[in-house]
Amino acid sequence: MSIPAAGLTMYEVLAVKYATRAARRADLFIGGDPHDADAAMDYYLWVVRSRDPARLFIVDTGFNEDMAAKRGRTLLRRPAEALRLVGVEPDSVEQVIVTHLHNDHVGAFDSFPNATFHLQDDEMDFATGRYMCHERLRKPYEPDHVVGLVRLAYQNRVVFHDGDEELAPGLSVHRIGGHSMGLQAVRVHTRRGWVVLASDASHYYEHFEKDRAFPVVFHVGDLLQGYRRLATLADSPRHIVPGHDPLVMDRYPPPSDALRGVAVRLDAEPSQP
Ligand SMILES: [Zn+2]
Repeated sequence: MSIPAAGLTMYEVLAVKYATRAARRADLFIGGDPHDADAAMDYYLWVVRSRDPARLFIVDTGFNEDMAAKRGRTLLRRPAEALRLVGVEPDSVEQVIVTHLHNDHVGAFDSFPNATFHLQDDEMDFATGRYMCHERLRKPYEPDHVVGLVRLAYQNRVVFHDGDEELAPGLSVHRIGGHSMGLQAVRVHTRRGWVVLASDASHYYEHFEKDRAFPVVFHVGDLLQGYRRLATLADSPRHIVPGHDPLVMDRYPPPSDALRGVAVRLDAEPSQP
């Protein structure tokens, strides 16, 4: 049982589901899976907010209809609409943390016209450098998104980070790498202690729990080391939130009955061990 640190801001943390797709279990793991059963992949963005002092950070932007059509995903609601459902007006968002530049994490960046975007140096280097000459590595990226972030950098709207950085008391980013070169996880202080939003540092619970690797990966060694890093940053395995697992919606409670199936509170205790 972990306890929050005295005097440190405690944030409310929401996972907001905006899209989904059907998958096969065998496609989720390097080496496949003996149980070649159906699976689902959910797509989330995350809201981190506190009342006193009032702070609001959005983690990742999600994508809109264009990527859903191009890549065969089912868009349940535009990220901007999803945020309004949980009381966030996108125009009012000033801070967006981009875990990495894959299309499903940054595709709707232009829904936040007044935001500054937090990104790791390594991720911009990766997305604009030599590795993008390989189809296998560039596939999850979209040139328009990457160029969009470059344009924002020229407008002083990107804050670059190198490794571990505190963005506010009780909120920090940590470069994990592995899945992409500059992926960053987000560590948040909550009423149940330190929660870590892994994003694609672990797509599903099974990845970090069983040391398995999702096939979209830059560096398998860094990915596996990343699981240990997540464990160090979080108060317990129950404080690690994977980036695409439908179980997240089952294990955590919704903020209200009306939001069942749309959002869950990650600062609440999960139902599973
Ligand atoms: Zn990714």
